[in-house]
Amino acid sequence: MMKTDIEISQAAQMEPIQKIAEKAGFDAAIVEPYGNSKAKINVFEDHTERKMGKLVLVTSINPTPAGEGKSTVSVGLADALQKLTGSTMLALREPSLGPVMGMKGGATGGGYAQVVPMDDINLHFTGDMHALTAANNTLAALIDNHIQQGNDLNIEPRSISWKRALDINDRALRNVVIGLGGRFSGVPREDGFDITVASELMAVLCLSKNLHDLKTRINRIVIANNTDGKPVTVGDLQVGGAITVLLKDALKPNLVQTLEHTPALMHGGPFANIAHGCNSVLATQTALKYADYAVTEAGFGADLGAEKFLDIKTPVLGKTPDTVVIVATIRALKYNGGQKLKDLTNENLEALKNGFKNLQRHIKNMQSYNVPVVVAINQFVSDTEDEIKLLDQLVSDMGVKIVNTNVWEHGGAGASDLAQAVVESTTETHDDFKRLYDNNLSVKDKIETVVSNIYGGNKVEYSSKAEKKLKEIDTNGWSNLPICIAKTQYSFTDDPKKLGAPSDFTIHVSDLNIKTGAGFIVVLTGNVLTMPGLPKHPAALDIDVDDNGKISGLF
Ligand code: ADP
Repeated sequence: MMKTDIEISQAAQMEPIQKIAEKAGFDAAIVEPYGNSKAKINVFEDHTERKMGKLVLVTSINPTPAGEGKSTVSVGLADALQKLTGSTMLALREPSLGPVMGMKGGATGGGYAQVVPMDDINLHFTGDMHALTAANNTLAALIDNHIQQGNDLNIEPRSISWKRALDINDRALRNVVIGLGGRFSGVPREDGFDITVASELMAVLCLSKNLHDLKTRINRIVIANNTDGKPVTVGDLQVGGAITVLLKDALKPNLVQTLEHTPALMHGGPFANIAHGCNSVLATQTALKYADYAVTEAGFGADLGAEKFLDIKTPVLGKTPDTVVIVATIRALKYNGGQKLKDLTNENLEALKNGFKNLQRHIKNMQSYNVPVVVAINQFVSDTEDEIKLLDQLVSDMGVKIVNTNVWEHGGAGASDLAQAVVESTTETHDDFKRLYDNNLSVKDKIETVVSNIYGGNKVEYSSKAEKKLKEIDTNGWSNLPICIAKTQYSFTDDPKKLGAPSDFTIHVSDLNIKTGAGFIVVLTGNVLTMPGLPKHPAALDIDVDDNGKISGLF
């Protein structure tokens, strides 16, 4: 019987974090241990000029309840690359308590391909999420206090776009009324909460290159309009310094290790459906500067995380991927091809062939950026030989390399062929990186480019609220910002039920949020929500801790 993820993690023999730091090449002076198995790396004290290594981006087909295993494959691949090359570092997102207590699970991989200590990482880790929540809500309190104390900036209370945040799925806080209780308890107004990982500060943290950049970005965040309809920023409120102070340690990447002791930086964790879905630029840059191979992951399917990695993160990082690994499972492809969830363990070549269209579109999308692509099958015990043979054939017919992996069961040894294929792929010459859109296009043109070239849709409809925001964007000169589309992760469309590779559909834009600090415009489509709810059976119901502090049920 295979042990659970947490049982495997608890049995792991971790190396002291100083040893991992040494292995990664970090000078002891920049390593700030948080206990024995975690550390923050003070990259601001590191002035060494280094050449960047090769960048491997792991992404996947559209996720399904069957599970794709992107993090699992990233960890296994990093272990295999470390064995093959001797110089590899992981750069992953840190988990949010929302999915940990809710539905999706943790973010530390699975089976024998995990980052440890998984319980600490999935719970409070080094406190980055709490720092972000505190910073976000400090700013919210300062805005309301400014209005209470005379409102020198003439902030129009109904125009305040800065919401409060909490790192838990709490649907009851999506829309709230604050300031009730008379004149000493504030000015009543409607407000709302976003989950911390969808907050602008999370995006700002993930895109900032240093403290100076962090403060500059925070100061330019627009929080409301004044009574003349002009934008009011954090800089106008004169609290950029205070908010930056609250994030000064959160900005330092966190170092941990895999079960096989490969150094792993886990830092920043925006969701890819309602935010930009990539770990911090600082962590990825550090991994690239210190290792020959940096393995990173972007959230959900390649239509969300990878698109945002390539169009939002890459320009800030100053480095494009040397190879993109697309993770697929036979189960999920069959599900995309119409097979029912309960029948996924039965062989079905027809459904697999049908569902392959989803993978095919993701491959073509990634190739359109001129980045080399390798497909990794994350093997499940139920996969049959004929199914593996068929998928191999379908992908190979596209002239794309496909490799079988079983890292969940075997750790790094389960990805030795993938590591070999990745090393070969990163050394191939290929045409220059091709951007999807020019930032100078109009916002509508940028949206339409993503919809037609990546999603496969042919029409975009805008609500009247969205049209109004587009005018505001134009008036304020924000049109040249890149776009960050918030969309369901389950489908290329904005309807989670439309699986496979649908074409000729309409994307419905309900609203746009301007994030001047992050430097992008969030485009909300369909019914996507920036504060999720908990499911009927939240994971929290199965989590426990015994009298000795041993945790169970954390997957
Ligand atoms: P993603 O990063 O795509 O969201 P994860 O890597 O977090 O997916 O994996 C989701 C869950 O699926 C984890 O609990 C993991 O243990 C499990 N899992 C991943 N790959 C396999 C596999 N090949 N066999 C069995 N379970 C797996």
